[in-house]
Amino acid sequence: MDYIDNFKPAKKIEPRDDDWGIYKTLLESTNAIPWKLNWETKQFDYIGPQIEALLGWPQESWLGAMDWINRIHEEERAAIAAFCIRQSEEGIDHEADYRALKADGSFVWIRDVVHVIRNTEGKTTDLVGFMFDISERKRMEEELLSLNEKLQEISRRDGLTGIGNRFLFDQHLKSEWARAQRSQSPLSLILFDIDFFKQYNDSYGHLQGDECLQRLTRAITGIPVRSTDLFARYGGEEFVMLLPDTPNEAAALIAERCRQAILELGIPHRGSVCAPSVTISLGVSTLVPTAEMAPEALLEHADKLLYQAKDSGRNCVCAAACPTGPAGH
Ligand code: GH3
Ligand code: MG
Ligand code: MG
Repeated sequence: MDYIDNFKPAKKIEPRDDDWGIYKTLLESTNAIPWKLNWETKQFDYIGPQIEALLGWPQESWLGAMDWINRIHEEERAAIAAFCIRQSEEGIDHEADYRALKADGSFVWIRDVVHVIRNTEGKTTDLVGFMFDISERKRMEEELLSLNEKLQEISRRDGLTGIGNRFLFDQHLKSEWARAQRSQSPLSLILFDIDFFKQYNDSYGHLQGDECLQRLTRAITGIPVRSTDLFARYGGEEFVMLLPDTPNEAAALIAERCRQAILELGIPHRGSVCAPSVTISLGVSTLVPTAEMAPEALLEHADKLLYQAKDSGRNCVCAAACPTGPAGH
């Protein structure tokens, strides 16, 4: 069993006075910047010389807490200083991210990790900490955020026409429904569909069909004028328009303008039975949302009206208020 003795822990190493030199060399050779602040005098006892390479301010210019506070970006200065002072007073270790002012006037993102030293009565006596340069991490975070925003934007756009897609429409419908319910205002929905579009593709080819969808989109885009109005591609050759705070009669007028705009484009359509050019049929429904109803009721009613328009010979608008009471179910 002799070999066990070989694994006995070595004798505990007690720091010697001359060890400070070793610790100092170690501290000053890291990328993180060590510092120590006397909490009673609010003066720095020590700050690593690396601070000069990072921020440009000489090591001797860091006398006290005010030198630190004054070199925090003014947008977060008050909040960061208040937070750190509060945590330090309460004896709580903490960390803070902020932009530190460089001597050349630019800023560096810093993460300050702070350990609070207290005496036997629990009173804070000193702070020791490390400052880390996190500018690269912040840059990557910001890049990720902006990429994410771009991705979100792309995911809400229709690739062919560039207008909002079904996903964006569903989001708008949900939020506008809630808004209209709160304000008890009428919410209108126009659903429209190209007449005999299958025949259009058959006659002119799918690519020209795509171009027709693009021209139609451009012609309609300027018609709803309020910033809260939304025009989106619902799917295939069906489009939708959501008009908050709009009664049925006003929405029917907008629908009629859309119908006219497409007619005026005069896109030849030899396969259509109802006109020599491309036309659309539209359903227009309106309601004041209540808690008992779901947004789908508005969509279903507009769809029903659209098919009434198809049944009435196409190239026309069918508009009505959405039945809301028990009679409507
Ligand atoms: P109706 O008047 O009853 O609406 O007849 P329709 O032929 O338009 O109706 P249907 O729903 O049968 O046909 C829709 C056609 O739209 C079929 C599909 O090929 C075409 N379509 C859907 N999306 C696109 C698209 O992105 N590009 C093209 N070119 N055609 C599309
Ligand atoms: Mg269709
Ligand atoms: Mg169609």
